[in-house]
Amino acid sequence: MKAFVMRGIGRVGFADKPIPTPGPDDVIVKTTRALICTSDSHTVRGAIGPRENLTLGHEAVGVVHQVGSNVKLFKPGDRVLVGAITPDWGDPASQAGHSSQSGAPLGGWKFSNTKDGVFAEYFHVNEGDANMAKIPDSVSDEAAVYCADMLSTGFMGAENGYIPIGGTVAVFAEGPVGLMATAGAKLRGAGLIIGVESVPQRQELARHFGADVIVDFSKEDAVARILALTGGIGVDTAIEALGSDVTFQSCVKVTKAGGFISNCGYHGEGEFVHVPRVEWGVGMAEKTITTGLCPGGRLRMERLLRILEMKRVDPTVMTSHTFAFDDMERAFEVMDKKLDGVIKPLIVFE
Ligand code: ZN
Repeated sequence: MKAFVMRGIGRVGFADKPIPTPGPDDVIVKTTRALICTSDSHTVRGAIGPRENLTLGHEAVGVVHQVGSNVKLFKPGDRVLVGAITPDWGDPASQAGHSSQSGAPLGGWKFSNTKDGVFAEYFHVNEGDANMAKIPDSVSDEAAVYCADMLSTGFMGAENGYIPIGGTVAVFAEGPVGLMATAGAKLRGAGLIIGVESVPQRQELARHFGADVIVDFSKEDAVARILALTGGIGVDTAIEALGSDVTFQSCVKVTKAGGFISNCGYHGEGEFVHVPRVEWGVGMAEKTITTGLCPGGRLRMERLLRILEMKRVDPTVMTSHTFAFDDMERAFEVMDKKLDGVIKPLIVFE
């Protein structure tokens, strides 16, 4: 089969690989749609160290090709969503409710990290019964594939921020994760959602998903504006959806005493992420910093798919580009270099 791989740091291309075979609990999926993620670029740039001939990608849907002997819930031909994070559910971290950290910190993240990813004609899913969900007939593959990571991670931002009904929320950066955090804040009943973003196309999408006010940090001081919008008190929840030290500090500054700073961003640079001491109430303002990695698991994915089935959110408006799998090199370049106003490139398989 054909696979799109990381050859080494900064180098990608196609490779021929054998179709994987399932262990007793595992499933082999024939890919139908995939999405490229900014974290695929991070990987190729060396975020997880050198990798040779590693198949990229972690966001995909497909059709069940083959199941292991213990698999009960799926059979060949089923249309399935596969989580970007595929934990080992017997692991102590999973048992304690932190399945994304199974085996090691971030250990639930296996695709394109500790095993081959999903940018291939077929891919392997560990513990298929627990790590996949059937896609409802009324939900398209294109919509469902957004649940693998974008809805799960973005909604996690809202969930970990404990947004009170009618509460105030600031979402820092309206990329795909920030956009889904914005949609998640709206679903959780936020009373005021402030999106921090400078790119007009992303500002427009943020409004579409529920932002009431857009703050353009390139034209004004985002912290001052958010404090002004909240009567000088700050927001109940600030969601960090970028992964920058400066943005993280802004989140702490705009959060009210007792509020939550919910981090979704990947902090890939520098030795430290800084907490501003005074705005943190010199450590005593009861501001809680929460972190998480895209939650996986069948039950969660079934809930996310229900959101699509009931038409609460339509993530497909984020699809800015569509490429055939054969054009993967170009698609990857567009995402890696953020060309042509890219939001999310959809990859269509045969
Ligand atoms: Zn992703």
